[in-house]
This record gives sequence, structure tokens and C-alpha cells, in this order.
Amino acid sequence: MESSSQFALFKDSIARRILSHTDIQDSASELDDFSSYLASESWPTLPDSLRTATYEARGSVSTEISLDSTPVSFTDTLISYGFASDQEDAFNFLKKALDVYVDDACAPPPVWRTTRKSECEICEREVPLTYHHLIPRATHTKVLKRKWHPESMLNSVAWLCRPCHSAVHSVSSTDELARDYYTVELLLGRADIQKWRTYAAKQRFGVKRG
Ligand SMILES: [Zn+2]
Ligand SMILES: [Zn+2]
Repeated sequence: MESSSQFALFKDSIARRILSHTDIQDSASELDDFSSYLASESWPTLPDSLRTATYEARGSVSTEISLDSTPVSFTDTLISYGFASDQEDAFNFLKKALDVYVDDACAPPPVWRTTRKSECEICEREVPLTYHHLIPRATHTKVLKRKWHPESMLNSVAWLCRPCHSAVHSVSSTDELARDYYTVELLLGRADIQKWRTYAAKQRFGVKRG
């Protein structure tokens, strides 16, 4: 089983794509097994520059992959579980997961925020954190106009590790986050985030440590 940090980031990216087709997987361990399987099947077929992507090597990473190189096992599995309707659809699933993976793998190392929490507020891992605007900035004008929240609440943040931060944005739109999921408690009340939390808490590799 692959254990490079790049593989772990790729697997997380696949897990989040599965999570956004909610209800199909019913437990976090299935999410873990299923994303491990899909990631393991496709990882060896990816170009070297993708598999070794880092912040330092970001200039030489290309996400060009071909439909023909997508493994049959990957395509067939996605189709049989209803995540894709045909080969091209499965290929697009892989491409979208790869785009997010490359962003994560090539991101600069996060700042270690010693002034705030030391654990991610979702997965509770002690890793470098990013801050998530619970009421995303892009929605502030709308939030005030529609009186969703008072101005004093606009700058509330949650401290999240990068994988959890991406998970929050992949399951919900910015408007929905601003209107309905503007506290960590509300986020944790979602079934998909609970499933992600259980999954993420068990992952050992791939989270950049300070
Ligand atoms: Zn986290
Ligand atoms: Zn955010």
C-alpha cells in the first residue's frame, strides 16, 4: 500500500469527491476502503511528475492524462457504484480529483498558528491550520442585505486543517455555508461532515506537519 504524502493527498481528494455524492457510502470506514481502492488502482498509471508534485516542483507538474490510460478497474468500479455513467464520466471524476490533488500537493506549507487552536476543529488532528471564514467573505454583502446575520458575526473563523477545509467547501456552496452552516457545531451536525471527520481523524499521512 502506497504511503507517500502525495498518495495520501490524492486519496483524500477522491474521498471528498465520493462524499459529495452522499448517501451512497454509509460509513466512514467504507469511505476509507473505497477511496483507498480507487486511489491505489489509478495512482500507478499517473505520470511521475504528478506523483511527485510538491510546492518546490510546482512548475513542472502537468495534469494532462489520457482517457485510455484510466484503468478499467477504476472506471468499472465507478460505474457499478453509480458515481459515473460511462468511461468519459469516470475519466472526468479522476480529472477533477487530480486538479484538487495538485492544488493541495503544490500548496505552500501552511503557517503553524501557535496563537490559536493547535488542533483542527473538525478532525482534531494536531497539524498546521488554515482559517475558514464561517461566513465566507464573498457572501458578506448579501448576508447584510438579507439580514442573515449581524455585522459583528461576519469575521468569525474556524481553524481547520487543509484537508478538512477543502471538505467543507466541497460539500456546500458559499451561500449555504453563510446561511446555514456558520458555526463549527452546525458544520459538525451534517452527516457528510461527520463521516469526513471520522475518516480524516484516522489518516496519518499527507497532512503537512509544522
Ligand atoms: Zn482537519
Ligand atoms: Zn473556507
